[in-house]
Amino acid sequence: MIETKYIFVTGGVVSSLGKGIVAASLGKLLQARGFRVTIQKFDPYINIDPGTLNPYEHGECYVTIDGHETDLDLGHYERFLNITTTKVNNITTGRIYQNVIDRERKGDFLGKTVQVVPHITDEIKRNIRVLGNTGEYDFIITEIGGTVGDIESLPYIESVRQLRWELGKNCLCVHLTYVPYISAAKEVKTKPTQHSVKTLQEQGIQPNILVLRTEEKLSENICHKVALFCNVDEDAVIQSYDVPSIYEVPLVLAQQKMDEIVLQKMGVTNESKLKLDRWKDFLNNMKTAEKTVTIGLVGKYVELPDAYKSITESLLQAATYHHRKLNLELIHSEKITENNVEELLCGLDGILVAPGFGQRGIEGKFIALKYAREHNKPTFGVCLGMQCMVIEFARNVLGLKDANSTEMDLSTPYKVIDLMEEQKNLTVMGGSMRLGAYVCRLEKDSMAYKAYNNELILERHRHRYEFNNKFKAQFEANGMKCAGINPETGLVEVVEIPSLKWYIGTQYHPEYNSTVLNPNPLFMSFIGAAIENGELRIKN
Ligand code: GLN
Repeated sequence: MIETKYIFVTGGVVSSLGKGIVAASLGKLLQARGFRVTIQKFDPYINIDPGTLNPYEHGECYVTIDGHETDLDLGHYERFLNITTTKVNNITTGRIYQNVIDRERKGDFLGKTVQVVPHITDEIKRNIRVLGNTGEYDFIITEIGGTVGDIESLPYIESVRQLRWELGKNCLCVHLTYVPYISAAKEVKTKPTQHSVKTLQEQGIQPNILVLRTEEKLSENICHKVALFCNVDEDAVIQSYDVPSIYEVPLVLAQQKMDEIVLQKMGVTNESKLKLDRWKDFLNNMKTAEKTVTIGLVGKYVELPDAYKSITESLLQAATYHHRKLNLELIHSEKITENNVEELLCGLDGILVAPGFGQRGIEGKFIALKYAREHNKPTFGVCLGMQCMVIEFARNVLGLKDANSTEMDLSTPYKVIDLMEEQKNLTVMGGSMRLGAYVCRLEKDSMAYKAYNNELILERHRHRYEFNNKFKAQFEANGMKCAGINPETGLVEVVEIPSLKWYIGTQYHPEYNSTVLNPNPLFMSFIGAAIENGELRIKN
């Protein structure tokens, strides 16, 4: 066992460079050498968590097993490292200040003036070390959100500076920057990197390793120049050029020996070879797949690539295990009408109706689901998608005109989806949904059971509304089965239509529980059914 090591990943020049992917990839390499690794993210914004943020602001909100709404980078950490994270893996400025202010109100500061330095920085440092103090990890990688130079990042950078001082060799800083290619000059430019490193240096941090994000591979000259101007060893200037899949990034970093450089700089000896066989098999499957599977994702945020991140990654993972390329068609639910539904959906092998909140785009989801049900297309409804399956079935099969969810229509005569009892008197929005992992018992003769090959499953939730059990008998008598039930509360977690090829809706979000090495069984089964359906279509 080694002493716990702390690696910090900061970013400069611009946002959206993929710090989370670099952090996850480095974590993957250390894990592949046999170390116990976890990753956490510190976000400088003031919201307590991203749960109340609009997807336009922040992309997908990822949910941990313990029911915390977190940054989507935690999804990358879990998918890359095949680990589970919890509330402690994602901290925001809001949480830091809330803790400090709560203590101030209790009188914990004994009459002292409470200040950013040392009280906020101490609270940041305490939170950074929580996972390290458990003794469960050899490496704690901490990604600092935002870009150096931002006003709101300052307390974090100062905390990292202090921790470096306190931890000595057990601490290392990786800084990610951008090296743009200026096409008019036909040159790549290192100046933004130099400036960004200078900003970090001014704040007291000399990065040990630089990762340069670039579109094309950089010449040795460029790396030499960056090393010279930024006081970083030449072999510690790593490039992260564009690759077709994010899952290739660990190999790009390994090729440049980033893991060895980290170990050497932190004084860790490790004789073991990188064990990435299964990872490489996955990539190989991805590269050699020739046939495709075409899935339509019906949602209202389809123009935002990050809004359905976990779903698109889960689909890709499952397609790859089936040795298919994923051809994902993003279908805007607001644009689906009775007139164009055939044209939009007929060429698809399978349809996934996305989660979401609110009325916008909902009618398009009903039209899509009616078409899918009547044309026996493999169809997967996730959370709101499942609720829409129930509503569409109520309206068009049970004949319950204007059936709805009370989220969309409070005065509906048939509340087939209704607010949970415990949600009725809530006044706070943040962190108050049904969140996190709950057990679900699957009916032995169900399609879902077949997919999981397990009676008791554990999946994560994020919703306020539920299937209304008053209608259960009516649904079941007419062909929609409640195939998964929460054994403690009796809440319906899975519905399916057994007479169709594959028509399953889950109140939970299986996409939060799908990793590269451990794809979610329901996604695997869905893609399997979509492929079969596609082949049948070609034959006919
Ligand atoms: N809006 C629905 C609810 O709150 C579904 C939420 C979701 O899809 N995550 O129940």
